[in-house]
Amino acid sequence: MAEQLRAVRGMHDILPPTSAHWAWLERQVYDLLTAYGYRELRTPLLESSALFQRSIGEVTDIVEKEMYSFADRGGDDLSLRPEGTASCVRAAIEHGLLNQPQRLWYQGAMFRRERPQRGRYRQFHQIGVETFGLTGPDIDLELILLTHRLWQQLGLSAVRLEINSLGDSHERVRYRADLLSYLEQHQDALDEDSQRRMVTNPLRVLDSKNPAMQSLIAGAPTLLDYLGEESKAHFAALCAGLDRAEVAYQINPRLVRGLDYYNRTVFEWITASLGAQGTICAGGRYDGLVEQLGGRPTPAVGFAMGLERLLELIPKAQLHHAEQTLHPDLYLIAVGAKAEAEALVLAERLRSQCPTLQLLCHCGGGSFKSQFKKADRSGATAALVLGDQELAAGTIGYKPLRADAQQQPLALASLGETLPALLKSTQKDEI
Ligand code: ATP
Ligand code: MG
Repeated sequence: MAEQLRAVRGMHDILPPTSAHWAWLERQVYDLLTAYGYRELRTPLLESSALFQRSIGEVTDIVEKEMYSFADRGGDDLSLRPEGTASCVRAAIEHGLLNQPQRLWYQGAMFRRERPQRGRYRQFHQIGVETFGLTGPDIDLELILLTHRLWQQLGLSAVRLEINSLGDSHERVRYRADLLSYLEQHQDALDEDSQRRMVTNPLRVLDSKNPAMQSLIAGAPTLLDYLGEESKAHFAALCAGLDRAEVAYQINPRLVRGLDYYNRTVFEWITASLGAQGTICAGGRYDGLVEQLGGRPTPAVGFAMGLERLLELIPKAQLHHAEQTLHPDLYLIAVGAKAEAEALVLAERLRSQCPTLQLLCHCGGGSFKSQFKKADRSGATAALVLGDQELAAGTIGYKPLRADAQQQPLALASLGETLPALLKSTQKDEI
């Protein structure tokens, strides 16, 4: 036998019925974002590696060690996208979208060569939102409020909001100097990663996930103490907005985010129920990035959420409900030469008459008994049963599959009118 091929480590097939959970989640987000006036943008999965080097930053985990980069046959240095913001900014500049405020969103697969574990994969999926041209704390607030609403709609409980302000770049320069001298004083206690980060990008020491580093990090100077008047006012207005909207939050002065391009507001939604991979949504303001990538200076703020982690948090009952959409309303059984010849044509007529009808047609013949078995397994609410006898009489059998009820004949000529009401009255059992 030929060697069996498998999916790449850390990359997963999404099969039914789980695919129905995904479709349901994507639909929820689609409807919510559309209702808030956000418009979808789709960008390629492959970009020039330079895009990510210039936006995410050379000294980040992603660019240093997680990207899937390769030279294509023409010698171009390309990378599978590890996140969506860079592509979104590139596209917005390239297509001249930035001469007016924009509320955009994207969804899709992202690729990072991390160590696979629960909540951490090499191909994972994000839905992200990016806004451009809006500078005030009101848009920061809107983004947080819409994620808050989404969690409520998805039935998520026990997610908490952490926020911080990273100030502006000149404020960070002063902070960075003081942080550096603090870290230098404690250099012996720094782990290897942090020693390296201390030299290249000291703020990212605060982002360390090593438990042994936490008390040292807790003693470091606090960025919030370095904010100037404008940054302070921006942050205070965001906090006041959250208070008014009664959205609970914690200020976490150590929240710096892994990517280099953030300024002022940063936020994360975190859960305690997913172990170490607790961040389900993260974002912030990145006013400098558009200019850094060659566009006119344009304020921007956005976030991304990880769908794998979100799906783990959605209540089982909610997901079970989503699976119900996989069960057809009707399973069409046909036995006999004439009936089999007629079945698919009849099904087409029904589909035209009842556009929302979920109708699964049996294909491949077989006895009534074997077709009924498949009808049952499909999860259909009822079976439509067509034999040559019924066909000759101008009828079709209707047999509820989830309730104890007799098969009854229905007139073929008026099937399109009788079926919807009949289905409504037929109990959809829990399967
Ligand atoms: P983490 O700190 O967990 O590594 P991150 O800061 O690298 O996350 P972002 O780049 O901000 O994450 O991505 C936003 C969201 O995407 C995360 O909050 C998480 O839900 C999800 N995410 C990031 N990396 C992965 C991954 N490898 N597998 C699954 N989900 C991920
Ligand atoms: Mg990461």
